[in-house]
Amino acid sequence: MKVGIIGISGRMGAALSQATLKSDALVGGVSSVTTPEEWESVVKNSDVLADFSVPEAALRAAEMARKYKIPLVSGTTNFSENNFARFREYSRDIPLLHSSNFSVCVHLMAVLLKKCEKILQDFDFSITERHNRRKKDAPSGTALFLAKQIDKPAQTVSIRSGGICGDHVCDFIGENEMLTISHRAFNRDIFAAGALNCARWLRGKNPGFYSMNDYLKEKIDCPI
Ligand code: NAD
Repeated sequence: MKVGIIGISGRMGAALSQATLKSDALVGGVSSVTTPEEWESVVKNSDVLADFSVPEAALRAAEMARKYKIPLVSGTTNFSENNFARFREYSRDIPLLHSSNFSVCVHLMAVLLKKCEKILQDFDFSITERHNRRKKDAPSGTALFLAKQIDKPAQTVSIRSGGICGDHVCDFIGENEMLTISHRAFNRDIFAAGALNCARWLRGKNPGFYSMNDYLKEKIDCPI
């Protein structure tokens, strides 16, 4: 699989480049200083695009992926509703998968949250997320995804410090006890591997807007 990376000079771009070189072919990538000609060259020579950048670049990638009819996997966060609407529009012509987190464990956490909510009806729910000081968005895309699993409102706390890769702590707090479900990414390799697995899967798909749930349901029969 020939992979083109959107956001290649970033932290995720570096992890994804390394992962791609181990298992697939790296065509190259684009960053904030890439010329329009270089963009064209990367996109048209790729079998699939993998994007970890900013919404503006992700949308440009989707537009170009549609032009060359190639699938796009995107992990970029901080999308507005309007950005998602444009992604959906592009996905009429190409397979496009977006996930704010490519870790299987985070998706299992979502399953557990749904189960807990059914039972712990009187408990309050909160999410504390911690990421590195350079992360731009808060709350994280993953915190928003986890909050969506629960019907009641979530209190969310975001901490930006040092080099933390990604911590999410979900607390169900009652009068006399508390249940905590947490996830910690030790590094970015897990996100890179998840994105490549989804990219491989997406290549055989019809045009459409896919989530990591669609991939998990088919690959590991995970009822998320
Ligand atoms: P980063 O700031 O280190 O890298 C951003 C990259 O985007 C850089 O290569 C930069 O040059 C590029 N870029 C910025 N503006 C651009 C433009 N206009 N055109 C082309 N390229 C442009 O960020 P990061 O830590 O690598 O994270 C990138 C994104 O991935 C963020 O949205 C982050 O939240 C998300 N992320 C998702 C997951 C996941 O599993 N889905 C995991 C980690 C990070």
